[in-house]
Order: sequence, then structure tokens, then C-alpha cells
Amino acid sequence: MGQVQGKVALVTGAAAGIGAAIASTLGREGARVVLTDLDDRRGEDVAAGIRNKGGEALYLHQDVTEEARWPEIIGEVERRYGRLDILVANAGIAIISTVTGMSLADWRKQMAVNVDGVFLTAKYGIPLMRQSGEGGSIVMISSVAGLRGSAGLAGYSATKGAVRLFAKSVALECAGARDNIRCNSVHPGIIATEIWEKMPVGAQDARANAPIDPQVVAAAGVPTGKLGTPQDIADGVLFLASDASQYITGSELVIDAGMMAG
Ligand code: NAD
Repeated sequence: MGQVQGKVALVTGAAAGIGAAIASTLGREGARVVLTDLDDRRGEDVAAGIRNKGGEALYLHQDVTEEARWPEIIGEVERRYGRLDILVANAGIAIISTVTGMSLADWRKQMAVNVDGVFLTAKYGIPLMRQSGEGGSIVMISSVAGLRGSAGLAGYSATKGAVRLFAKSVALECAGARDNIRCNSVHPGIIATEIWEKMPVGAQDARANAPIDPQVVAAAGVPTGKLGTPQDIADGVLFLASDASQYITGSELVIDAGMMAG
């Protein structure tokens, strides 16, 4: 019996990195998983990987910032499975830039994916979660950058701080016995994914020829000296998604090998 056997899960940004590991882990543990992303080829591959191991998975194309697509995604989950138990708001981007070098367009782009996207995930996911009358678990992927400032990633930090308090507010709104929906944020430290390789330097910083090296940002200090893996985060999300964490809501799970301990 898997830890989330028979539950229905929706994971955004599930084609790569942390999202792919979360979707695969929930699938391995018995959930029926709906994966969404912009990258259809890789998203289909992750879903096929879950099915090949005997799990159930469906991939759907989605830009989390497009509000019109949300009712279609949730409608498809309802048609197929008739319920939603686990909602993971994972899709996110990071743009490296100093504050003075950041364009308003880059600021807004991060806000759109990292904040609007998480808001829309909750706004459209919660009503279907409520329908079963059995509650559910929402997990929002923030960052250690949502717990403290980050030079060179100020815009990103602002979005992840917003996610942290949004998660607590959702937890309070949905905590009643009628809803019984839990909501927690997860704060990864430095995890080896492509987000670091594809992190663009903000347009104005690039023009000023004063880029900030992602490796320098990454070297901010992991006490164990080791980068995390997507599986490290997926294991934490599995705990929050499962009934093993049924008394935990409005909480923050920091998975950072001690970065925030000092
Ligand atoms: P990643 O770049 O490897 O994967 C992100 C996925 O999200 C990609 O598949 C991408 O196509 C998708 N995506 C991006 N914009 C989207 C959109 N508008 N709509 C739908 N999908 C979209 O990144 P990752 O490292 O796996 O990051 C996952 C989450 O973890 C993000 O929220 C990120 O901020 C957070 N995080 C990552 C780290 C880290 O060190 N990797 C640390 C802290 C927090």
C-alpha cells in the first residue's frame, strides 16, 4: 500500500527537476497523478515513466499564468477522476539581476509565474478539493530565498516570500472542519536542477555587462557542502501530501541541509 494510495494529485511544472521528482514519487506511492507544464515532450516522458512502473499518470499542457486554461485543467481532472486530493504548486522561474539593473518586465515575469501561478493553482484547485468532503493537502514550493533576502535574486526572493505567506493564509481559510484542507510551504535550499543552468541574467544587467554568476549565488553556503537532489524535496512533499502529516498545516518545511540554521 503506497503512502498516498488512491489519491488524485495535480503537480505543476512537472516536466523537469523538482516537479518531475514529486510527480514520480507520488505516482510510485499510489497516487493518480496529473502533471502539467509548458514542456510537452518532457512532461509526456515523465508521465510515461510513471505508467511504465505501474502507476497512473496524465500529462496536460499548461502555462500556470494563463487563467483561462485553469478551468479546463481542473475540469479534466474532475472528468477523469471526480476528485482532487493533493495539489502541488511547483512551477517557478528565477532571473538573476541586481535591483537597480532589473527591468520591470523581468520583475513582472517572475511575479507572474511564481506568485500569480501559485494563486491560480489554489483558486481553481480548492473548489474541486472541497467536493469530496474528505479534505486534501496543498503544497506550495517556496525557497530558502523566501525566508531571507538574496543579493542578485531580489525579485525571486520577493516572489518566494509571497508564496510563504500565501500558503499560511490558504491554510487558515481552509482549516475548518467543512474543508479540512491543509496547506504548507516547502523551502528547498540549493537543489541540483536545470533552474541554475538556464537562469537568465536580467535584461538590463546583461546590457550593463555586469552579470551575477549563478555559481557565486549558489555558493551562498550549504553547511554540509552538498547540493540537494530533486528527490530530497519530493520526499518532503510526499510527507506533507500524505495522511502522516494530518496535524500539519500553515507550516514551513525547510529542506536545505542546514543553510537556514545559522
Ligand atoms: P526547473 O527549471 O528544473 O523546472 C521547472 C519546471 O517548471 C520546468 O519544467 C518548466 O518548464 C516549468 N515551468 C516554468 N514556467 C512555467 C509556467 N509558466 N507554466 C508551467 N510550467 C512552467 O526548476 P526546479 O529547480 O525544479 O524548480 C522547481 C521549483 O522549486 C520552483 O518553484 C523553484 O523556484 C523552486 N526551488 C528550486 C530550487 C533549486 O535550487 N533548484 C531552490 C529553491 C526553490
